[in-house]
Amino acid sequence: MIWPWGAVEQHGPQLPLGTDALFAERVVDAVLARLPSERPIWRLPLQAVGFSPEHHGFPGTLSITAGQLIDLVMTLGSQLAEAGFQRLVLLNGHGGQIALLQAAARQLRATAPRMGVLPCFLWSGPEGLADLLPEPERRDGLHAGLAETSLMLHLAPELVGSDRPRDGLDGPLPPTGWSLEREAPCAWLTQDLSRSGVVGDSRGAEATLGEQLFERLVDGWTRRLEALLVSDWPPNGAAEHR
Ligand SMILES: [Zn+2]
Repeated sequence: MIWPWGAVEQHGPQLPLGTDALFAERVVDAVLARLPSERPIWRLPLQAVGFSPEHHGFPGTLSITAGQLIDLVMTLGSQLAEAGFQRLVLLNGHGGQIALLQAAARQLRATAPRMGVLPCFLWSGPEGLADLLPEPERRDGLHAGLAETSLMLHLAPELVGSDRPRDGLDGPLPPTGWSLEREAPCAWLTQDLSRSGVVGDSRGAEATLGEQLFERLVDGWTRRLEALLVSDWPPNGAAEHR
């Protein structure tokens, strides 16, 4: 079972509130269309509202709490396990809930060890995405930058406004030795970094880049789901040890 996860959060002046949700849903649908129809794989409805406190104060943002997110994953996940589903893939388009979905997945797995639970971030895994993005955008384009604006220009150009901000890249920066996202991260809020809500550089966004990104996203996730479907994951031992 695949469960697409999005968010409702401000994405600068140029992208819709449901950007992450639209991406997760379009990739899931394209992957399912590409897999042979006899494959035993289904999808849940999109979870459109997610955990987005970092964008609080930017208009349009809505968020559930960390506790509500974990409850939702536990409640529906337990029912799926009871119904006999072997695996639950959480395919998440929002960078701000990666760690929380991983925690929820671990907790669910511990109570339903026979069901594999795979908490995935849409943009992490598929090969070749980074090659399409120049530095510093590859590293610092965290939100509504080149990649997201280009992908939306490919998937739903009618939803993209004409502004192309570059924002949130010139500081204030975390203290020396700390980073926004990777090693020694700092739980940033968008208002620490950006006035427009964009953290990145959307100036060069183009539909052709978006099309290439989409192809690689769909390829990468199709391959991973194919591999999962023919695998023995999770190992039987996990259930027997309880
Ligand atoms: Zn986004």
